[in-house]
Amino acid sequence: MRPPPAMTAARAAPTLAAAALALLWAGAGAAQELPVREVAPGVFVHEGAHEETAPGNGGDIANIGFVVGEDAVAVIDTGGSPAIGRRLRAAVESRTRKPVRYVVNTHMHPDHVFGNGAFPEAELVGHANLADALARRLETYKARLAEELGPEAAAGIGAPEVDVAVADRLRLDLGGRALEIQAFPTAHTNNDVTVLDPATGTLFTGDLLFVERVPAVDGSALGWLRAMDALAAQPAARVVPGHGPTLEGWPASLAAQRRYLDSLVTEVRQALKAGRGLSETVERAATAEGLGWALFETYHPRNVTAVYAELEWE
Ligand SMILES: [Zn+2]
Repeated sequence: MRPPPAMTAARAAPTLAAAALALLWAGAGAAQELPVREVAPGVFVHEGAHEETAPGNGGDIANIGFVVGEDAVAVIDTGGSPAIGRRLRAAVESRTRKPVRYVVNTHMHPDHVFGNGAFPEAELVGHANLADALARRLETYKARLAEELGPEAAAGIGAPEVDVAVADRLRLDLGGRALEIQAFPTAHTNNDVTVLDPATGTLFTGDLLFVERVPAVDGSALGWLRAMDALAAQPAARVVPGHGPTLEGWPASLAAQRRYLDSLVTEVRQALKAGRGLSETVERAATAEGLGWALFETYHPRNVTAVYAELEWE
């Protein structure tokens, strides 16, 4: 028996509305969660790709993660775009119902901080130099992201407001678990911090450690070599680098990066002593160290240029 036409319409309307709402929800907010791995109890890590930001990766090129305490969560870096930040948030919410109390930015580079907006309720924790350093570069970084991913990808990225500025050391309480934040003098950048979870011996180094991907000098190569000595003294059982796989065997896992930075400094110093110009030095210095580093062709010439400027007046 067919129902009268009016009833059909009445039944169909809510179904259509629900479908439209579901579509809207999918388009507007529901982010697909980022895959994360629990590298130690309550410590989750997502590994970014060894690539430059491009539409294929959406800015997902750095390691990001979170630590779950008894009361609250700390997110450590938020990814290279607002969309990656939302996907990280979805990953947090699928693992715990506890609130995100803190977002720690290990340093200012956009692949680590452009997802911050996905956690508006959290207190932003970073180096005492972070806000100023990022504010200086913000418009450049946003313009670059718009070029790489399209203008809508960079929409809504605001100036950073650091709630907790770290000049030396700081403990972040998550309830039954406290993270130790340490600020460093200029190394990879002038605003690097590390995050240690003493409960599991897990150390998030930010970009003070690159594994597989060539390190990028945006601060001081000499300072970075010194920072690595301090870093090696951290009581860690495993490290989550800024780029590359999580490694056990600390501090042996610093060796490849130390070799690269050492040879960079040594060879640029020799070039300066021999009176070689910048372009010749860029062509010749430390090229043998390229074996095995991802993105070497892109970043090594920039590193030589940066170190040349750093050492020119020593
Ligand atoms: Zn960086």
